[in-house]
Amino acid sequence: MSTEIKIPQTKAQRITPVNPATGEILRELECAEQAQVQAAVTRARAAQPLWSERGVKRRVAMLREFQAKLYAAKSDIAQAITRESGKPVSEALVTEVLVVLDAARFLIDNAWRLLRDEPIPHGSPAAKLKRGRLLREPHGVIGIISPWNYPFSIPATDALAALVAGNAVVLKPSELTPLVALQLAELLHESGAPADIFQVVVGEGSTGAALLQSEIDKLVFTGSAKTGKRICRAAAERLLPVVLELGGKDPMIVLDDADIDVASSAAVWGAFVNAGQACLSVERCYVSRDVDSVFAILCAEKAERLRVGDGMESHTDVGPLIHERQLQIVESHVEDAKAKGARVLAGGKRLPELGPNFYAPTVLFQATPDMRIMREETFGPVLPIMSFGDDDEAARLANESEYGLAASVWTRDAKRGERLARRIHAGTVMVNDVVSCFGISEAPHGGVKASGIGRTHGRFGIDEMVRFKYLDTDRMPRVKKLWWYGYGEAFRRQMEGFLDLEFGRSLPARMRGVLRAAGALQRKRL
Ligand code: NAD
Repeated sequence: MSTEIKIPQTKAQRITPVNPATGEILRELECAEQAQVQAAVTRARAAQPLWSERGVKRRVAMLREFQAKLYAAKSDIAQAITRESGKPVSEALVTEVLVVLDAARFLIDNAWRLLRDEPIPHGSPAAKLKRGRLLREPHGVIGIISPWNYPFSIPATDALAALVAGNAVVLKPSELTPLVALQLAELLHESGAPADIFQVVVGEGSTGAALLQSEIDKLVFTGSAKTGKRICRAAAERLLPVVLELGGKDPMIVLDDADIDVASSAAVWGAFVNAGQACLSVERCYVSRDVDSVFAILCAEKAERLRVGDGMESHTDVGPLIHERQLQIVESHVEDAKAKGARVLAGGKRLPELGPNFYAPTVLFQATPDMRIMREETFGPVLPIMSFGDDDEAARLANESEYGLAASVWTRDAKRGERLARRIHAGTVMVNDVVSCFGISEAPHGGVKASGIGRTHGRFGIDEMVRFKYLDTDRMPRVKKLWWYGYGEAFRRQMEGFLDLEFGRSLPARMRGVLRAAGALQRKRL
């Protein structure tokens, strides 16, 4: 693989991660340019074969050490996440640190089993004398480009799977949250991952583009569908394999028999967790017309009770949005919904008295499909509620989206819930829960439609980090194969007999096939 490296002549750019709750600049970092990114990838490529040769057990030992160190540093890491991303510190513990500890647990327990050679038994009699195995080999260097909303759990879960499979990793974190990524690198290095095996290159989109152009062997990208499409186009030019974990517009369907108190609490948590800036957050809520008013009122009451503030305060439920641009998107979606007839039951405004980026948890009722808030990813603390008549209408509305990341169905009747779940076009459908699927290390994470390509987490995530190689060993090296040259009329009849033997529709037909095919054993081959 060769890539022309253009060394830019411009002065290095800088990024300045900011605490979104206070506006305080946390640090200034120089962006990695194309030449530095390529140099990092070259170092990673040189170090990777030795890492691969170490074997799974020694790499798992590194993960065990990492897990112990992360557990010991859990509070510090959670606070660092909160400082850079704004989410409440208890949320950082549960949705980031815990998720990574559990991902490490899954890999420690299962990596050896999931990465070992797998026998491929042969069904056809013609292949019975061959021994087939599936080998899982590392790609080499995996590039990871990650977003700001889960600045620790997303790059860490991807990186742990890549590393345990024997790859080197070069990570380009979001320009808004590079410090947490640097802490991840520190933890991994202290746990025994060689410096060149896990590297972080910081910078904006152009640094990500440089990583995409470098000599990586695979890219795992998490971010918006807009950037994902650009990445996919660029990757196609060089047939670079990619995993794309993109945006969502997840529907929540509340059926007439749901427990309304539980479902309304779920809707409020699912819509406002991480201030609504979660790919899996509840972005559209469809409620049976039989219970919609009660449900909406309960949601509004619960939303009003949430404490909005600096995530560092332990009583905070909802932190700030990441930056002003995100607030403007949220505002424009709410204004559009209001103009088209939605009723604001809670919130609907900025909270400037708290700091630069705060928006009140907002509940909108009587939403309609033409509103931007029911079509575009809002990525903010807004719960738009729309009513439906029957299960068919609920399924149709849920599927009316360019996205298909996850969805949820709420009902006391699990069978009815699962029937509806099967009709929804999404990577995950939960019955009576929201969002938590991301924290189940065994479950595949990923979407359909504009929500992406490929899967992370669990055994499916490990499979994305390896190349499959089929290894076939013939057990009779001194015998020429029956199907080799030396064709002729007799051979044609013998092969017809062989097809009758394998696929004949009756026992006599198959017996006749045996007799006709038998001559092939004595046939002279070239
Ligand atoms: P984004 O697409 O703006 O940026 C993501 C990353 O891509 C950043 O590191 C950014 O610097 C980099 N980037 C930007 N332009 C690039 C380019 N041209 N080439 C290479 N890299 C480039 O997304 P974001 O705002 O950071 O994250 C929010 C989005 O991510 C939302 O849409 C959300 O739904 C999605 N997301 C998806 C998942 C998932 O698992 N499906 C998880 C979290 C977030």
